[in-house]
Amino acid sequence: MQSDVVIVGGGLAGLACAVALRDCGLRIRVFEGSARLGGRACSWTDPHTCDDVDLGPHILLTEYRNMLAFLEQLGTRDRIVWETERLLRLREGRRVTDMRLHALPPPLHLLPSLATTKSVSLADVASNRRVLWMAMRATEEHIKHLDGRSALDLLRHSGVSDRFIEWFWATACMSVLNVPLDRCSAGALMRVFAQLTGLQEYAIGFADEALANLFVPGSIRMLERAGGRVYTESRVDRIVGEQGRFHSVMLQGGERIEARFCVAAVPPQCLTRLLPDEWAAMDPFKDVGRFEPSPYVSSYLWLDRKVTDERFWARIWNPCDLNTDFYDLSNIRRGWSERRESVIASNIIFSHRADGLSDEQIVAATLDDIREALPAAEHAHIRHAVVNRIPMAISCPTPGCERCRPATRTPIEGLLLAGDWTDTGLPSSMESAVHSGWAAAEVILQMQGRPHHLVLPKRELEGIAGWVRRYGAR
Ligand SMILES: Cc1cc2nc3c(=O)[nH]c(=O)nc-3n(C[C@H](O)[C@H](O)[C@H](O)COP(=O)(O)OP(=O)(O)OC[C@H]3O[C@@H](n4cnc5c(N)ncnc54)[C@H](O)[C@@H]3O)c2cc1C
Repeated sequence: MQSDVVIVGGGLAGLACAVALRDCGLRIRVFEGSARLGGRACSWTDPHTCDDVDLGPHILLTEYRNMLAFLEQLGTRDRIVWETERLLRLREGRRVTDMRLHALPPPLHLLPSLATTKSVSLADVASNRRVLWMAMRATEEHIKHLDGRSALDLLRHSGVSDRFIEWFWATACMSVLNVPLDRCSAGALMRVFAQLTGLQEYAIGFADEALANLFVPGSIRMLERAGGRVYTESRVDRIVGEQGRFHSVMLQGGERIEARFCVAAVPPQCLTRLLPDEWAAMDPFKDVGRFEPSPYVSSYLWLDRKVTDERFWARIWNPCDLNTDFYDLSNIRRGWSERRESVIASNIIFSHRADGLSDEQIVAATLDDIREALPAAEHAHIRHAVVNRIPMAISCPTPGCERCRPATRTPIEGLLLAGDWTDTGLPSSMESAVHSGWAAAEVILQMQGRPHHLVLPKRELEGIAGWVRRYGAR
């Protein structure tokens, strides 16, 4: 079979790339190894309840500019419900802290929520001044410089109090970067912190139907209408080439597909297996083995009654606890509120601590977690439960990894990389995946002599944070 562009991987990165290239006169073929498209953002119908569920619950941010533009293209952007009451509800046992963005210039807009919580003192909040100053001034160059240190080391040396580290930073690091503070790159954490404290307004959102329905059917339709093809259950076995030039891909069944370009839109753990040995030993591929997976366990519990009106809450991180974030889908999914029964999805992030537990133990512990937070759940019973063990939710941003994230272009002619873990300047996420897919499409368009800007940059910092970034940057 002959093609112009072969895309390996039908996750968000691969599909976003394919859709972006559909009208440029190239023959596009997407090969997905599994039976389902969507990758880590895939969904299916639960056979017991006939409800559509995702591999695990996901959130979006209003700052997901590329992801939201992609959904806009596909006509599904309005399928996101945004949390408008508050930014985030944090729970520590029965104690609740609502984080809100107040009408003060960033980063002061977070202060009223922090100053009024009973969980930390004003002295704890004030102990962040040096680290906040650093985050506001940090350029990408400085982020890469900080990458060699652990986030915990940086916070301690910047004078942040132990209580604030334990209450805020450990929770933020686990929720956003999916790795404990002592294993996290200081650069990766500062980059996220600068955005969260430096933007005036943003909100968390959720898909009001199966996540993959927002981008899989629309991508296939748009691509196939333009003459492209998507193949599922078509695992690529090898990427083939010679003399530094990509030539073809070999499918597991033995079929060879020749093409001018190959976009490898797969996680790092899959990429190493695809490359010829001499390429795997080259920069940037030789560092791919450094990316350690952050595993998740995602559970879905169908309860026999309604236990809350909330959509989402996060739990203050404690290494002895299991679940970190909870979603009541009956308050999120369109049409589910009429059932009067909660469906709670939750994530155990960096889930090594759950390795020795059976599914039954995880379900029982998850119900205990829900009861701990919500008195109304005390007498609730489980009608049905599902536990998904996910070996790789994202690649951990361990110290040194930011510098190893590869660029879209590789030294191999015709071979491009995409995926949430590539060098997008964003944490591994759906936004990073779409960004990377569009960056690969931009390179191909440029090489075709049809340069076109697709990638939307991050928003500039605002308020005092913006001023410091502009005039005080290192
Ligand atoms: C439980 C869970 C919760 C998450 N929560 C959030 C969240 O709240 N917010 C957020 O933004 N992100 C979240 N993420 C991360 C997000 O899902 C990913 O960042 C994103 O989906 C990655 O997309 P991708 O296209 O880069 O990679 P993937 O989705 O991994 O796609 C790669 C595809 O390549 C295929 N493939 C691999 N090898 C081959 C081969 N040899 N041949 C053919 N195909 C191959 C795979 O089957 C896969 O479909 C979460 C992930 C999980 C698992």
